[in-house]
Amino acid sequence: MTARPSPDSRTTAPPVAAPVIEIRNLHKSYGSLEVLKGVDMAAPRGHVVSLIGSSGSGKSTLLRCCNLLEDSQEGDILFEGESVRWKGEGLNRHPADRAQVIRIRTNLSMVFQQFNLWSHMTILQNVMEAPVTVLGRPRDEVEAAARKYLDKVGIGEKCDAYPAMLSGGQQQRAAIARALCMEPRALLFDEPTSALDPELEQEVVRVIKALAEEGRTMLLVTHDMRLAADVSDHVVFLHQGRIEEEGPPDVLFGSPKTDRLRQFLSATA
Ligand code: ADP
Ligand code: MG
Repeated sequence: MTARPSPDSRTTAPPVAAPVIEIRNLHKSYGSLEVLKGVDMAAPRGHVVSLIGSSGSGKSTLLRCCNLLEDSQEGDILFEGESVRWKGEGLNRHPADRAQVIRIRTNLSMVFQQFNLWSHMTILQNVMEAPVTVLGRPRDEVEAAARKYLDKVGIGEKCDAYPAMLSGGQQQRAAIARALCMEPRALLFDEPTSALDPELEQEVVRVIKALAEEGRTMLLVTHDMRLAADVSDHVVFLHQGRIEEEGPPDVLFGSPKTDRLRQFLSATA
C-alpha cells in the first residue's frame, strides 16, 4: 500500500537528488608521490563547499580530478550520481571519451587562480568562445548570454576590451562570466582571489557571494577564511591529502577540534 502524500509533504519534500559532485575514497598519485589518500566529500545541489588547507595539501589536485584534468588511481567521482572518474589511459583519444570530457567540463566549469583568458581575444570573444566552438550553440544566443553574464559580474562595458587592458579583478570577473556562460551545474573555483591585490580581491569576493546567494552549487578552494566562513554550507580542511577535519563553517572556524586546524587557522589569521 502506498501512502498518499499530504499536500504539505508534496511541497516540502522533493525527491532526494544525488549530489552534483560526490567524491568517494579518492586516491591520486603523481608517480610515487601520493597526493590524495582517500578523500570523501560531496557538494549537494545549491550548496557551497569550501576546501581549505596548506599549500601542497592537494586542493587543486582534487578540483582537477573532478574536472577530468587529472586521472586518479582509486575511488570514484560521481557527477549527479554517475561515475565519471578518469581512470587513466587515453581519455582524450576516443570520440566518446572526448564527448564525456566536454560534458563534464561544461557542467563543472572551473575558474582558475590565473584567469587563463585568451590574450588575443576581446572579453566578449573570450566568454563566447567555448559555448560557440565547443558546444556548437548559436552565436547570437551565446552573445546575448555572454553580455548578460558580463553585466552580472559588473564589467558589461568592457566587452570590447582585451584582457591586458583590464585589472586583475576585472579579468577574474570576466573568467567567472566565461564559466557561467557554459550554463554549468556547478562552479569549481581554485583560489580565485589569490593572484589579486587586496583592494581588487573584494570585487571578486562580492561576485562569488552573489553567486552563493542565488543558490549555485560551488566547490571553492580559497585561502580567504572570511570568504569561506561567509559563503560555505560546509568546509573541508585538507592536510597532506586527507580530510583532517570538516563541518559547518561556524563550528569549524569557531571551535576547531584538531591541533592541525588550530595551527592552520592561527597561521592564516
Ligand atoms: P594545493 O593546491 O593544496 O596547494 P596541489 O594539489 O597543487 O596542492 O599539490 C599537491 C601535491 O602534488 C604537491 O606536493 C605538489 O607538488 C604535487 N603536484 C601537483 N601537481 C603535480 C604534477 N603535475 N606533477 C607532480 N606533482 C604534482
Ligand atoms: Mg592549489
